[in-house]
Amino acid sequence: MASRSNNSRLPKFKRVLFVAAHPDDPDFGAGGSVARLTDNGSEVIYVIVTDGSQGGEDPNQKDTDLVAIRQKEQRAAARVLGVKKVEFLGYKDGHLAPDLKLRRDIVRMIRMYKPELVITHIPGRVLDAPMGGSHPDHLAVGEATFAAVYPDSRNPRAFRSLLKEGLKAHEVKEVWIPFWTSGDYLVDITPTLDKKIEALNKHQSQVAKPGREWDIEKLLRKRHREVGKRGGYRYAESFKRITV
Ligand SMILES: [Zn+2]
Repeated sequence: MASRSNNSRLPKFKRVLFVAAHPDDPDFGAGGSVARLTDNGSEVIYVIVTDGSQGGEDPNQKDTDLVAIRQKEQRAAARVLGVKKVEFLGYKDGHLAPDLKLRRDIVRMIRMYKPELVITHIPGRVLDAPMGGSHPDHLAVGEATFAAVYPDSRNPRAFRSLLKEGLKAHEVKEVWIPFWTSGDYLVDITPTLDKKIEALNKHQSQVAKPGREWDIEKLLRKRHREVGKRGGYRYAESFKRITV
């Protein structure tokens, strides 16, 4: 099938903030689209909320060692996709709640980077999708990020301590949620699927767990081919696209 890739079909965003719970989430959820956006001239910034310290099989591995590995992997994966900046908020993996502190910390990122588009997790449990997508940290980040986009980041009376940091109100225009079961907006990732696979392979601590080897390339090609069929693309990623 001929690729219908065309950058003019992708909306033009100056800056995009991707707020995710764990290292590897942005690459898994939307790595092909991230590469399309950076190819198209957008500056994409990753905000990784947790330290990733529960993403391992060895209970005796030191948290600090695993955190360092995962940050290094995330930076390498981001580079593959053209993402120049990764912010780690350092919350403990597995312990997130969509509380006011988390909201404020995400508002700080939004006001600092002033994105037009924010990409984040689904802010609620999806019962007809595999449970991995409804990790409690994902739900917490999704909910806190939605609250940060509206109303907090645009409301000058919200989190007034941020004004003292010089961070003024900012209006985000759109939110995208990677939503591969039933999204309503498809991005053609035919030109960037190889980069997505390369980026995910940078997360060796996750894709090469002993006794749990999986063929990431096969899995991604199958998934994105199925999604692509809905729009006549060879490979696609699917989102819920929300205008704020
Ligand atoms: Zn995750």
